[in-house]
Amino acid sequence: MERRSPRWKLILLYPLTAMIMLTVLIPSAPQTVHAVPADGNGPVTREEGEQKQPARVAVIIDDFGNDMRGTDEMFKLPVKITVAVMPFLRSSEQDARRAHELGFDVLVHLPMEPRQGKPEWLGPGAVLTSMSDAEIRKRVEEALDNVPFAIGINNHMGSKVTGDERVMGIVLTVCKERGLFFVDSHTNYRSVAGRMARELGLPPVENHIFLDDVHSAGHVAKQMKLVQERALNQRYCVTIGHVGIQGKETAAGIRSGIAGMKDKVQFVGISDLVRDEWKWNSRLTLP
Ligand SMILES: [Zn+2]
Repeated sequence: MERRSPRWKLILLYPLTAMIMLTVLIPSAPQTVHAVPADGNGPVTREEGEQKQPARVAVIIDDFGNDMRGTDEMFKLPVKITVAVMPFLRSSEQDARRAHELGFDVLVHLPMEPRQGKPEWLGPGAVLTSMSDAEIRKRVEEALDNVPFAIGINNHMGSKVTGDERVMGIVLTVCKERGLFFVDSHTNYRSVAGRMARELGLPPVENHIFLDDVHSAGHVAKQMKLVQERALNQRYCVTIGHVGIQGKETAAGIRSGIAGMKDKVQFVGISDLVRDEWKWNSRLTLP
């Protein structure tokens, strides 16, 4: 079967490299803590008299589905994480089921066309801006059908697609129809995903900090400190790490970060944030 071909292993090594290039090229890519956006889309700071809730952190781990390095280590982390699974790969279904059994949230990690980079880096079922409305809808629906227990979608690569109103309109409409939400991985600082999600009545969820733009456990642990800082300042923080060629190092960095943070912040699934921050209930029980 084509999807079982080992070349996917190689192909999946590249997106991280592309992401790193992007974060270098685009200063506002979400690798550092930044202020609440002026459009009011950001987390709300805690107000006087408001009931004091612990600051919360949602750790999303991308690129599951291809039995990549670090998969076991991520599943063994001592806190709740969110598992983003690429569709149509050899361990897509298995990883989604395992995550669900552990009580972790599952997202479809949908391959989407980047501004730079080769389409063949994307993996099967990718959404491209050259596709017709009908083809895009079909691809989104098939990806959702392929990953059991998914409560939402986030983008794999996608710096081009998340800036495209036509394509994002279709992706978000399918999310809405199915009672799901979209998490903007934020590979494009000109993304329209958040604004369009709000217009459609969906929660404008986005990644704030990439954990592993530099591949060492030490760097990841340092990024976890930024995550804590942002969560304490702005009530919550969404952060993304990856399984893959350096997946074990990323997992080790997250684990060591957790050890120093667990008394100060609460680790939650992305669905917990969506429910409490935007009062939005995803369709949590799926067939
Ligand atoms: Zn990815």
